[in-house]
Amino acid sequence: MWVEAEPPQWSIYTRGQTDMERSSSSLWRKIRSRYNLVGNACENCNTPYFPQRIVCRKCGRKSRMVEKIYSGNGEVYSITKIRTPPDTFRDEAPYYIGIVKLDDGPKVEGHIIENGTEPKIGTRVRIRFRRMYVDGDEGLIYYHYKFEPV
Ligand SMILES: [Zn+2]
Repeated sequence: MWVEAEPPQWSIYTRGQTDMERSSSSLWRKIRSRYNLVGNACENCNTPYFPQRIVCRKCGRKSRMVEKIYSGNGEVYSITKIRTPPDTFRDEAPYYIGIVKLDDGPKVEGHIIENGTEPKIGTRVRIRFRRMYVDGDEGLIYYHYKFEPV
């Protein structure tokens, strides 16, 4: 079941992290990326990416990548209704997944919420961050985003 995301006050350490990865800057980056759509863009040709890329697909090694936070607003580019989901999403079926073309960025894949009307190609959407599920054994909380029609 999806619930609204809470303010970040829990431990976000995961198994196998080194002390370096637990530094405050790393911690802050991880929190930011849970509540923002953090991608990057090529400083040379401005091509936006999500998820982040180390090297620009167009410019290769001469590129310099800069972090970019996208608004999460866009429109549905393609969409599919899932009737037979994996076990993790069994309680949510049927649901929609699709590709959203962001107003200020690349195309991003994600769940698309049905809020009253059936979402379709061209539907305007905005991003919503949610707590997805808690791993029963580890107690780890997994966050993800969905797109909501506006
Ligand atoms: Zn480039």
